[in-house]
Amino acid sequence: MKERGNRVKDTLRDIYDEVLRRNPGETEFHQSVHEVLDSLGPVVDKHPEYTDAEVIRRMCEPERQIIFRVPWVDDSGQVQVNRGFRVEFSSALGPYKGGLRFHPSVYLGIVKFLGFEQIFKNSLTGLPIGGGKGGSDFDPKGRSEGEVMRFCQSFMTELYRHIGEYTDVPAGDIGVGGREIGYLFGQYKRITNRYESGVLTGKGLTWGGSQVRTEATGYGTVFFVDEILRSRGDSFDGKKVVVSGSGNVAIYAMEKVAQLGGTVIACSDSSGYVVDENGIDLELVKELKEVKRARISEYADTRPEARFIANGSVWDVPCEIALPCATQNELDGSSAKVLVQNGCRIVAEGANMPCTPDAVRAFTEAGVTFAPGKAANAGGVATSALEMQQNASRDSWSFEHTEERLGEIMRGIHDRCLETADEYGVEGNYVAGANIAGFTQVANAMLALGV
Ligand code: GLU
Repeated sequence: MKERGNRVKDTLRDIYDEVLRRNPGETEFHQSVHEVLDSLGPVVDKHPEYTDAEVIRRMCEPERQIIFRVPWVDDSGQVQVNRGFRVEFSSALGPYKGGLRFHPSVYLGIVKFLGFEQIFKNSLTGLPIGGGKGGSDFDPKGRSEGEVMRFCQSFMTELYRHIGEYTDVPAGDIGVGGREIGYLFGQYKRITNRYESGVLTGKGLTWGGSQVRTEATGYGTVFFVDEILRSRGDSFDGKKVVVSGSGNVAIYAMEKVAQLGGTVIACSDSSGYVVDENGIDLELVKELKEVKRARISEYADTRPEARFIANGSVWDVPCEIALPCATQNELDGSSAKVLVQNGCRIVAEGANMPCTPDAVRAFTEAGVTFAPGKAANAGGVATSALEMQQNASRDSWSFEHTEERLGEIMRGIHDRCLETADEYGVEGNYVAGANIAGFTQVANAMLALGV
């Protein structure tokens, strides 16, 4: 038995070594692969057919990786050149599905980490979507409307040949919201001469978009936490919550926390964080971030009772529930220890991989419930799949109906994580539950479809 356990470990170690060798320097991708493989020991042990067919090894290699030049002209007439990416990771369960990120930090390793996560996240939703991700190192910050439009048009002028309703369906992510999806869709429509609504999600409500898509990632994360609380006979009522970020995910996570009776006392952006003990004024954050595209520091200029802290970590603010909703590796081991010391009991990832492995270890050791992003933030992509359903049937659902579907999906993911963790002897472990449940569905499809 022991010998077999060692063999399983060796196989997984071998696959991971190969990932390191084949993808040098792509540290975020390595991290996300390591995190998943770390959970798969009991699965490989129980199902030798997965390793016999090299399912895991195949899963770690993207089906297709596209890298392209994005030339455009800025407002001063200067030609700019960015790099565009689309990694089509897995189509075992459906068309590749995942967002586009526009941020200067974007390189192949980030896109691959996000695409890899997306495979398991999308599988967990129970909807027929494969995994992919894309983006560019373009920095939208400080760019004019015209510059953003010309960039998006140039980006789509190359990307259009690789995507389609049945092939690959991009959406937004950091730096890509409704405005960018509009310019991208406009260019796709112009080039192809087709009103192919299902080719992109996150569209505007008057041109094929879905109700609740904007709110979905943040709402979904909070629904997930609500399910955790409910499973313990508890609720958000009176709970103090800290959220990092103040973008699309953070804003709608804060909105749903408030609707469910919790109080969000802090949020942040790359300039620092604000603490407002009476509860963050969401209308003000929306005005600053969605309309004025301003810094969160301006929050304290308008609300004198709030404090803005430029240097420091939002995780220093004591809370019972922490929702990291900004970006990868934003919450490290020492921040995790501070949260634990201050009495935090639940951490759920609204962003993709915001907690470092050290942080996750600190939470687990302290008995803090930790919900990984691929489960807790799946509401965004799940609602994208609902948008695809509406597009395919030329229908448009009400806000109430769509939100109800989102709630059901998040409850389904929550229960699937716990049931799977139970089945594999790691009771209450959401990380293992999410990884194993996400993995087995993709693995079974791959077995069925052949090599
Ligand atoms: N970018 C989101 C995510 O990380 C949503 C992707 C989508 O809707 O396709 O899951």
